[in-house]
Amino acid sequence: MECPICESGKFVRKKIEYKYKDEYFGKYDADVCNKCGEAFFTEEASDLIEKKAKELGVWGIEKKTKISHSGNSLIVRIPKAIAKFIDIEEGEEVIIRPEGKKKFSVDAT
Ligand SMILES: [Zn+2]
Repeated sequence: MECPICESGKFVRKKIEYKYKDEYFGKYDADVCNKCGEAFFTEEASDLIEKKAKELGVWGIEKKTKISHSGNSLIVRIPKAIAKFIDIEEGEEVIIRPEGKKKFSVDAT
């Protein structure tokens, strides 16, 4: 199978580390491109990762939120489950940075 990302590499089956935020999930089977390093977890590994995420209580905490505004600023409401998971509270300072168009990330300080 040829790598769909760089279109020239070949896949090698390896065990690689899976991390979500700071939660270490363990090592799982993945097909890793020998050229660009792009990794695709096997179907079996994806199931195991999903199971682990559910055990850790971090499965499906992705949520939709609406942008509202206050004065000249826009406000992003952070759902409770996500605030709890990344351990931030009201009044705390965070760093917000763009990651391209219509995409940003928030880091606790
Ligand atoms: Zn590749």
